[in-house]
Amino acid sequence: ALKQKKIAILGGGESGVGTAILAEKEGFKIFLSDKGKIKDKYKEVLENLEIEWEELQHSEEKIFDADVVMKSPGIPENVPLVLKLKEKNIPVISEIEFASEFTSAEIIGITGSNGKTTTTKFAHHILKSGNISAGMAGNVGDSFAKQVAENDYDWYVLELSSFQLDGIVNFRPEIAVLTNITPDHLDRYDNKLENYIAAKFRITMNQTEDDYFIYDADDENIRTWLKKNPVKAQKLPFSLERKFDNGAYLENNQIIIKINNTEFNMPTTDLSLQGKHNTKNAMAAATVAQLLRIRKQTIRESMENFQGVEHRLEKVLKINNVLYINDSKATNINATFYALESMESATVWIVGGVDKGNVYSDLLPLVNEKVKAIICLGVDNAKIIDAFGNCVDVMVETQSMDEAVKIAYKIAEKNETVLLSPACASFDLFENYEDRGRQFKEAVRNL
Ligand code: ADP
Repeated sequence: ALKQKKIAILGGGESGVGTAILAEKEGFKIFLSDKGKIKDKYKEVLENLEIEWEELQHSEEKIFDADVVMKSPGIPENVPLVLKLKEKNIPVISEIEFASEFTSAEIIGITGSNGKTTTTKFAHHILKSGNISAGMAGNVGDSFAKQVAENDYDWYVLELSSFQLDGIVNFRPEIAVLTNITPDHLDRYDNKLENYIAAKFRITMNQTEDDYFIYDADDENIRTWLKKNPVKAQKLPFSLERKFDNGAYLENNQIIIKINNTEFNMPTTDLSLQGKHNTKNAMAAATVAQLLRIRKQTIRESMENFQGVEHRLEKVLKINNVLYINDSKATNINATFYALESMESATVWIVGGVDKGNVYSDLLPLVNEKVKAIICLGVDNAKIIDAFGNCVDVMVETQSMDEAVKIAYKIAEKNETVLLSPACASFDLFENYEDRGRQFKEAVRNL
């Protein structure tokens, strides 16, 4: 429906340039505009395709000339340019919406506050092991749009942020997964949790009775929402606490997944990834795999050998019988909660960074139980010291990763753990969470 039209693309990153590649292939007239600087590697792509682009500004008259605008997920809904577009009734859509128009592949969409990347890679790993032709996109690797332009898969596993979902109109995943909902990014949702929950549930809004909705039934926010807002798709809940006729649950330390008359089972002790949260991610991914009728033995083997994702509870090294774990991607309280919960020995905890309005009290019981020392690594540590000052014997502040790791090395004793799980964003001392995680690993390896 969008063919032969003019598209303006806001943002010249992975999403924007991917959209440009696909739009070019589909015969659109394209104008790409980025208010910041565009990376050289992306400029090269645009130049090669002879796509008109600009940086460091938005030329409004050119953008208003478009029939449709693709807004990259990093640009908020309420910046003046986007508001003006809406006033002019020019549709503003996301890359996911645009790209899904041009593929007949079936889609597994995965969203949630935490666990998106892990569950996406997990599901993709099982699908590949089951010899299903499947691409993976979203926040991971090449953009969905670029892959739609260049590949011909039967299935896509898509990691979807709420920002990607904000810009959908017709997008309809055959299988939707919602891993959990805890407060995050509320600044982009008028500080209303309701709005953020609604954004996440948009993943189900175009689904029909033929589709599936897989979700965490232990999550209060999800359960409450579903009571008031029924979804059309067939529901497949997963839970560590309750059982279902259709869904995934635990029984005698086995994961059981029942879908209609099929049943899958596997001992949780055979899972490669530790932690309750990863048991849930595994349940979600295996439910997807079972819907696709992958052989049970293949699913089991894939769950036994899945290697996890860098920066998510990633085991780095054991030195003098002390295990070093990199959980740099834990940029909010909920992620760190699960990290601390999965610690199996006394822990030296490296925490801190840019505070996103954190309420630390949720972590108190776990810190009391598991943490023996805290190393604050950030520019503003006051709230952390305030919250946990009375829980631990040792509380140190530093602004250097090297120093943090050296202090941890001195404090940690045999059979203990050193955990980097910051519960905060990384932009004070690092480029991003990947940079933070890499610096941690480097410092550990230099010990
Ligand atoms: P996302 O892509 O949603 O940010 P990731 O898979 O990258 O999620 O994991 C982010 C952080 O959250 C990591 O610290 C990870 O250990 C933790 N985590 C992973 N899965 C879950 C889950 N189901 N619930 C809570 N925390 C999780």
